[in-house]
Amino acid sequence: MRVLKFGGSSVGTPDAIRKVIDIIQQKRQQGPVTVVVSAFRGVTDLLFRAAKEASGGSDQYQDVIRELEKRHVDTIKDLLRVQTRSEALTRFKMTLNELEDILHGVSLTREITARTSDFVMGFGERFSAGILAHCLSESGMDAEFVDARELIVTDSHFGQARVLGELTRDSIRKRLSGDPVYVVTGFIASTEKGVSTTLGRGGSDYTASIIGAALDAEEIEIWTDVDGMMTADPRIVKRAFSIDEVSYEEAMELSHFGARVIYPPTIQPAYQKEIPISIRNTFKPDHPGTVIRKDPSKSREMIKGISSIDEIALITLKGSGMVGVSGVAARLFTALAHKEINVILITQASSEHTVTLAVPPESSSRAKRVIEREFRPELQENQIDDILVEEDLSVIAIVGDNMRQIPGIAGRVFSSLGRNGVNIVAIAQGSSERNISFVVNRHDQSKAMNALHDAFFLASVKTLNLFLVGVGLIGSKLLELFHNQVEALYRDYQIDLKLRGVANSGKMLFDAEGISLDGWRERLESSSDQTNLNRFVEQMQELNLPNSVFVDCTASDEVPALYPDILNSSISVVTPNKKANSASQEYFDELHRIALRRNVAFRYETNVGAGLPVVATIHELVTTGDHMNRVEAVLSGTLSYIFNSFDGSVPFSEIVRQAREKGYTEPDPREDLNGHDVGRKLLILAREAGYRLEFEDLEIENLVPEGARGAGDVESFFKKLKEFDGEFESMRAEAAGNQMKLCYIARFEGGNGVVKLERIGQDHPFYGLSGSDNIVALYTDHYRESPMVVKGPGAGANVTAGGIVADILRVANTKAQSNAG
Ligand code: ADP
Ligand code: ASP
Ligand code: MG
Repeated sequence: MRVLKFGGSSVGTPDAIRKVIDIIQQKRQQGPVTVVVSAFRGVTDLLFRAAKEASGGSDQYQDVIRELEKRHVDTIKDLLRVQTRSEALTRFKMTLNELEDILHGVSLTREITARTSDFVMGFGERFSAGILAHCLSESGMDAEFVDARELIVTDSHFGQARVLGELTRDSIRKRLSGDPVYVVTGFIASTEKGVSTTLGRGGSDYTASIIGAALDAEEIEIWTDVDGMMTADPRIVKRAFSIDEVSYEEAMELSHFGARVIYPPTIQPAYQKEIPISIRNTFKPDHPGTVIRKDPSKSREMIKGISSIDEIALITLKGSGMVGVSGVAARLFTALAHKEINVILITQASSEHTVTLAVPPESSSRAKRVIEREFRPELQENQIDDILVEEDLSVIAIVGDNMRQIPGIAGRVFSSLGRNGVNIVAIAQGSSERNISFVVNRHDQSKAMNALHDAFFLASVKTLNLFLVGVGLIGSKLLELFHNQVEALYRDYQIDLKLRGVANSGKMLFDAEGISLDGWRERLESSSDQTNLNRFVEQMQELNLPNSVFVDCTASDEVPALYPDILNSSISVVTPNKKANSASQEYFDELHRIALRRNVAFRYETNVGAGLPVVATIHELVTTGDHMNRVEAVLSGTLSYIFNSFDGSVPFSEIVRQAREKGYTEPDPREDLNGHDVGRKLLILAREAGYRLEFEDLEIENLVPEGARGAGDVESFFKKLKEFDGEFESMRAEAAGNQMKLCYIARFEGGNGVVKLERIGQDHPFYGLSGSDNIVALYTDHYRESPMVVKGPGAGANVTAGGIVADILRVANTKAQSNAG
């Protein structure tokens, strides 16, 4: 004998019910089966709503009844042939009339007792089991509807009645002794006197287990809408996967801490008789699902699963008087159990100054009163100072039999949550040593679940959640590179990259599911959300995803002002924008300090020399104990191009004009020629090498001749510049006469930074520079005689975007390293 239980989602639509019928038919061919069924999906909630409306005196309950009627009648019509329909419809209508009468009564008295509420809530199963029995009969099976109130006997603890074991077993054995396929209502039961009760929300699983145990079934099959018991709730953790086998104890812990896929009391009856429970997917009947059994085969995973309870309240007792007073925890438990308050977890600080416990939020004020009463003497004598209640919290538990043998699990929890900025409010290790449970802010629940899931199950996969501001030349190139690479990144490096938010100066777009790297531009353009930087940051914070990276591809001053807030929310920052690092030394220090404290990355390789590895090289030299004595560099692609092309054949102003036409300069070339940009880059290199200085400390030669600085627009500037062509030419000719050339060099030495036009000879490492290349020569203790030189294209969308990609991937790698540790 097998007991097959079908949950609400398995009977949510006529198509789903057809799948159920197929499964039952197939199983029946292999041997006897008993079927337990839940209400159609959502029906129990509707009944609850109807009862509420009625007890509030509102007629709206009638609308709900009409909705229920339509839903069930449509299903009957869809599933049953005209000839057999009428019997099913008649039975349904009779039951519905009964519901209508009782709700009418409730609406008149404007009062609903727990007893009536249970009666009303149980109609869904009576409807669904009746209809399914008809369907099975029509498909040629010998099927019989059974109302579980004839089988399961409980006390009168309405809402969650307790089952009276022996009476129940006897009546099940008597009533279900024949040959037909019995179709039994889940969830409902009755007292010895015949008053209707329920087994608690989600209780149909329990019905199946009770029947399975009474009939000594070979297996209890729970058919639902997921591939079994999974490593985490797949609605919260997208990458959760199903577990092949778990022990009864593990299943109990996981469901106690919120894995709704199985109702916690379900395990007990099956466990006592050692009947395996399998959890299967109605929509994928070939998937083997999960088996809950004694002695499951050994798995190598440290833990089996992670579950969570969305909403709990935390109650803390504080006071020096509790030190050494024995049995505080026991008294708490007893007092609360007496009032039937479910204590989800309890933890006692090692100092014994505090005891903390988690309860469902709806019982928090009751629990507080119970505790106040129990500890009145201690409160009066100030041995207990205070009883504190905190709300808006979630509990997360990691569970697994293996945990007992493997040390360091708590450490892994702490480090992966810490890295993602999740604060642990309380922590408890279950006495079974089969779980560690801890309390976090509700806002962090999903982030914590995902971070832990990655850390324990997917240590090799690194997620990166990208938020990009600025989709000009570089920003869109960046997305193009990622678009081309995203599959290879996952396949070859297990980096799972998702774009979650993007903005340009006009619009912004967020999608928690990820924005396709294919059609992002169209989606962004059609977004109705106007860009607001503060809201962009807030949305990132609200999404609260692990391994978030904010990429600033703007040249704005406003965006860098947000970095402290972003880094403080444990979000890494990657940017080619120089503004932050070339602002005050204080700001530079602050950003680095926050990044360090929050254990996130702040990366800006492309601030200097585009994709050339300059910043990282200096950083590595310095962190490995070298000391930077001197930097000499050509840091502007524009000025490099201008002076490399200045051979006397074309006047200086004409070369500048050509450079502008080729798009090598800023729209106003004075911004290149004034040397400020080069100065900022030099400043960043010096700071990276550990020197502390301000932009104002630099000595910068402005290449815009004084007489041309005040010229109005760009054209007037070019006219003015022409007047100085002679001066530039004579400088050039004089250098050339000495086999030298002009070069705009940034130099940092002895704590001083200078940027100026110099004459260099053939023996100088920069003499051979061509095109718009950059070059950086680093003179350190280790590279004293001949410098370490980095040379190559220092501008352009391709190389810059490539450099940003490298920075972003380094964020993933740092995370992975710490994951492993
Ligand atoms: P049914 O209607 O079949 O009784 P439920 O909705 O009660 O189904 O339970 C199935 C749901 O449980 C899944 O859709 C899933 O969202 C949720 N769930 C929570 N934790 C887990 C877990 N660890 N494994 C599988 N499902 C889980
Ligand atoms: N229909 C009931 C509920 O929604 C019982 C169940 O689905 O298991 O809680
Ligand atoms: Mg369920």
